[in-house]
Amino acid sequence: MKKIVKKILPVKFFYPKNFWEQYNFLKKSIYWDINSLKEFQWTQLKHLINHSYNNSKYYQRVFSKQGITPTDINSFKDYQNKIPILSKLELKKNINDIIALPNKKLKYETTGGSTGEPVGFYIEKNVTYPKTLAFEWRQFNAGGYNLNDKVAIFRGRIISNNKIFEYENGIYNSLIFSSYDLNKENINTIIDELIKFSPHFIRGYPSTIELFTKLSRLYCQDKINKLSIKSIFTSSETLFLNQKDLIEHTFKCKVFDKYGNSEQSTIIGQCKFGRYHDYMEYSYSEFVDNNNQTIKKGTARLISTSFVNYATPILRYDTGDLVEINENTKKCECGMNHNRITKLIGRDQDLIVDKDGNLITLTALIFGQHFKEFQKIEKFQVVQEKIGEIEIHIIPHESFTNSDIE
Ligand SMILES: [Zn+2]
Repeated sequence: MKKIVKKILPVKFFYPKNFWEQYNFLKKSIYWDINSLKEFQWTQLKHLINHSYNNSKYYQRVFSKQGITPTDINSFKDYQNKIPILSKLELKKNINDIIALPNKKLKYETTGGSTGEPVGFYIEKNVTYPKTLAFEWRQFNAGGYNLNDKVAIFRGRIISNNKIFEYENGIYNSLIFSSYDLNKENINTIIDELIKFSPHFIRGYPSTIELFTKLSRLYCQDKINKLSIKSIFTSSETLFLNQKDLIEHTFKCKVFDKYGNSEQSTIIGQCKFGRYHDYMEYSYSEFVDNNNQTIKKGTARLISTSFVNYATPILRYDTGDLVEINENTKKCECGMNHNRITKLIGRDQDLIVDKDGNLITLTALIFGQHFKEFQKIEKFQVVQEKIGEIEIHIIPHESFTNSDIE
């Protein structure tokens, strides 16, 4: 009986009230000018600061240690100067004291643990996630995707009953594949199923979609034309330009990339002109250097304050991720005035510091300049103990000779 009910209910049914309220609001705020966005952020920030101070033991300690109360914070500058940055470690250590809502409103979540140690935290039940979803939807809309539209999703989870795909009709009308089953043995079945389902949209990690693209080109080139993909949405990992080009060229569509994290502290979404916009109604983002100073240009650490989680308020949270910025106050052709990010870089472990204190990404250093040499290396590890110096430990490939050392 349950199955039949699920089949006849439209996707719309699965979206709660909080989603629709947020979604309808975002349809208007998308075209706000920068001052309206900043005013909105200030109202949200004030509200969150008061809530944190009044309901969280941890923030009462922080405010008292700083010798302040919320009335001492009267500008973004005050906020930056008077509230310390919250690291992942601090969040982990103090999680039970940070909680600022009654137990019945809490939902436990953990961050993905592929890199670094997972952090457990709470979100507000039936509020945080539906709101986040509404922001994600705004980006999906930019790619032409609407409610009830079919979407193929590649997920990093194993599908039960030894199957390599399954249909799901809940929040999305979707055909789901597991990235673990993406190989040359299965690619023909996957493409055939995709042709049968005929979605105009695909979602997944950049590396998964890249693998899907390469396998399709190698083993079922003749079937690619039978697909009619309008947009592909990537997230959760750094999307490299060569990946984007290959995917767009192969499926003759646009790729829309997005940054988001499990802490639900920031969303940065790419528009159809390829620009990354900071979704300012979702959170207050700060871009700082290694000395915690705000910068307007260059590689910056992303610090964010989420407006959608009153369960575990994270004031000035260090996401551990890096972005490249170059302040641009011009309106984008897509109509958005939101802050722009030049590039999403990824986690700050992938960075080294040169002798002048500049942050340099390892990807740029290694793959940007010395790619040929690195083909002769099986594995490598970069260690930096001193500013301006790095040590590279390598396991050489059999083609590696003594002359390569130079
Ligand atoms: Zn734009």
